[in-house]
Amino acid sequence: MLSQFYDVIIVGAGPAGSYAAWELAASGYSVAVLEQKEGVGVDVCCTGIISAECFDSFGVGPEVILNRTNSAKFFSPSGRCLRLQSERIQAYLVDRASFDQAIARKAQAKGANYLFLSRATDIAVGKHDARVEILHCGSKEALTARAVILANGFRPRLSQKLSLGRIKHFIVGAQAEVEAKGVNEIEVYFNQRIAPGFFAWLAPVSTNKILVGLLAASHARLHLGRFLISPSWRRGIINREVKIKQKAIPLGVLPRSYGDRVLVIGDAAGQVKPTTGGGIYFGHLGAKIAAEVLSEALKSDDLSAARLSCYQRQWRAKMGKEISRGCWARHVYTKLSDRQVERIFSMLDSGGVARALLNSPDFSFDWHSELILAALRYTLAYPLRKAWHLLPWEVGS
Ligand SMILES: Cc1cc2nc3c(=O)[nH]c(=O)nc-3n(C[C@H](O)[C@H](O)[C@H](O)COP(=O)(O)OP(=O)(O)OC[C@H]3O[C@@H](n4cnc5c(N)ncnc54)[C@H](O)[C@@H]3O)c2cc1C
Repeated sequence: MLSQFYDVIIVGAGPAGSYAAWELAASGYSVAVLEQKEGVGVDVCCTGIISAECFDSFGVGPEVILNRTNSAKFFSPSGRCLRLQSERIQAYLVDRASFDQAIARKAQAKGANYLFLSRATDIAVGKHDARVEILHCGSKEALTARAVILANGFRPRLSQKLSLGRIKHFIVGAQAEVEAKGVNEIEVYFNQRIAPGFFAWLAPVSTNKILVGLLAASHARLHLGRFLISPSWRRGIINREVKIKQKAIPLGVLPRSYGDRVLVIGDAAGQVKPTTGGGIYFGHLGAKIAAEVLSEALKSDDLSAARLSCYQRQWRAKMGKEISRGCWARHVYTKLSDRQVERIFSMLDSGGVARALLNSPDFSFDWHSELILAALRYTLAYPLRKAWHLLPWEVGS
């Protein structure tokens, strides 16, 4: 099986890799997907919160949805709660393992060949093909293809080997599944002592099971361990021994996401929202663009870097501004003290600003840059509005 020649080899069976596999296999190309683990969705570390739009776009069945949500509670450092609710469902909480398996099944149904326990260790690009070295069940093998897509998550070794550069900044996300009662909606905690520079969250997956997660620049596992025993939310906790998983999340884009016969998608390319660390939707958009560009390039049998460079132009045009503005907002937030965060909460709470933002056309679950600008406008105008209200307008009027 391993000696076969493919049109495309995809390294990584996460949502980005399997979606690209599905698109390309559906277009009639022979596709192999290499996955280092023993199956799809094994030991994933992700909360699985995605927008309704993102879910619909993947085209998988509703059986992977654990919860639907139209509201969330945001807690300030002092414990002040800002509850936001919209009329329609904003997000789904999907079971990441089942979600990934559902996308992979779609790709397999179109003929994509999944090879498990197959870790790509090296890629050599030649004039007529690309050769991928694999460690398969402990032995070294090689596969060749006309093109390779790297969808291996945030693991820079292969892209660096291909001289595509490296994403310099990253954060770490840690998560644990906990048995707890009384958490009915998503809760987000902003507190520099709990999650320095970032935030922590609770996401209910069933009546007595929640995912507790946290992002941090470093020591995420340690911070989460502390958060799990903190009195801020401990009220309904049932089990005390939990397994904490963690994973790095890229902040910023890979300098080059294309080369001769190669494209890079998903976390591997930095297609992640820096504001939340969510990468399923942007990785999906990247996979979609990559599959379209590669499909055309395979048809014309021109797989040169020059031909494939339009992939980077297209995905950066769609997501580049979002990612750079998100990185900037994230950087600003890391500099804030708990007192400043508290003040922002009061500003957002006062006069229904947060609700106005939620209902404004700037609000989108996936696209945050317009919301960041709108929030900035409100924040900068706040002292002016406050002074305006304090002036004795009634006098003499
Ligand atoms: C705690 C936490 C919570 C998160 N919550 C959310 C959320 O709620 N919503 C959201 O949108 N995003 C979330 N994310 C981010 C999300 O998990 C990633 O953005 C997403 O998984 C990226 O998908 P991908 O397909 O690019 O890569 P991955 O899902 O990382 O898949 C890469 C695959 O490649 C395989 N692989 C790696 N190297 C090799 C190799 N050399 N050979 C063969 N196979 C290889 C890996 O085993 C893996 O299966 C969260 C992340 C963390 C850490």
